[in-house]
Amino acid sequence: MSAQILDGKALAQHFEEEMRRRVDALKAKADGRTPILATLLVGADPASATYVKMKGNACRRVGMDSRAIELPEDTTTEQLLAQIEELNNNPDVHGILLQHPVPEQIDERRCFDAISLEKDVDGVTCLGFGRMAMGEPAYGCATPKGIMRILEHYQIPLEGKHAVVVGRSAILGKPMALMLLGANATVTICHSRTQNLPELVKQADIVVGAVGRPEFIKADWIKDGAVVVDAGFHPEKCGDIELAPLADRVAAYTPVPGGVGPMTINTLIFQTLEAGEKAFGV
Ligand code: NAP
Repeated sequence: MSAQILDGKALAQHFEEEMRRRVDALKAKADGRTPILATLLVGADPASATYVKMKGNACRRVGMDSRAIELPEDTTTEQLLAQIEELNNNPDVHGILLQHPVPEQIDERRCFDAISLEKDVDGVTCLGFGRMAMGEPAYGCATPKGIMRILEHYQIPLEGKHAVVVGRSAILGKPMALMLLGANATVTICHSRTQNLPELVKQADIVVGAVGRPEFIKADWIKDGAVVVDAGFHPEKCGDIELAPLADRVAAYTPVPGGVGPMTINTLIFQTLEAGEKAFGV
């Protein structure tokens, strides 16, 4: 059996074309106005600066705009909160992205939670998370929501399937598990204190690797015919799952690179477009 490749890169390109058409239609109805994503970068971490730039570029590729706000390394929580408040109140801004991580003197959770729900297009607020968990409308956290969009596009059956999510971070493992639960999967969440991890992974119809360690999840833990989603990305150009031996015995998998990664930014700008459409009443 040759596994289906869940090609996030191609899918992101396909969705960008769709979004370009939606943005054009929106502009025509909204007197030329376009959705705007405000990006907030605190400090000078080069990786974070690159991510923020990529997000701004992705907005422009589909005809939307971005507004980059850069704050110094010694910014306080109060100063960042004031900046977020200004963006919340700015009718020209439709989505707000606060780039993680912020310098350690800042209370990141307080700042995330200060983003108003209708502009939380990266899905980072507790309120948005809670609403998503309850099945109420809210923008999803970008990486797990991007994974859900991949699974939906490739029509991967989730209902009644056993999904094992390895990792429980606020931005990935936890929202992933709740999104899969919302799609009627039976979900097991594993973490650093889990016992018998290989045995649990062996039971999975769907495995999500969100551990942050290169090829930590071994190929021989994964059963034949499973669907494998690898959210990890490491400098060695591998993910959190040992993927190479799986290509001819699982049903489908996300490659690394080119799987989950491209759909994260795509989901952020997709949700910004949705926020813009709502704000313009279209
Ligand atoms: P994280 O915050 O470091 O969380 C890692 C999770 O893995 C934690 O819940 C941790 O458990 C669990 N874990 C660590 N060691 C374990 C072990 N030995 N056995 C079982 N579980 C273990 O990482 P993250 O931010 O969720 O990111 C996870 C991966 O996804 C990383 O490779 C990251 O690069 C990638 N990622 C990709 C994107 C993208 O856009 N493609 C976005 C975000 C993250 P505890 O909770 O018990 O500590």
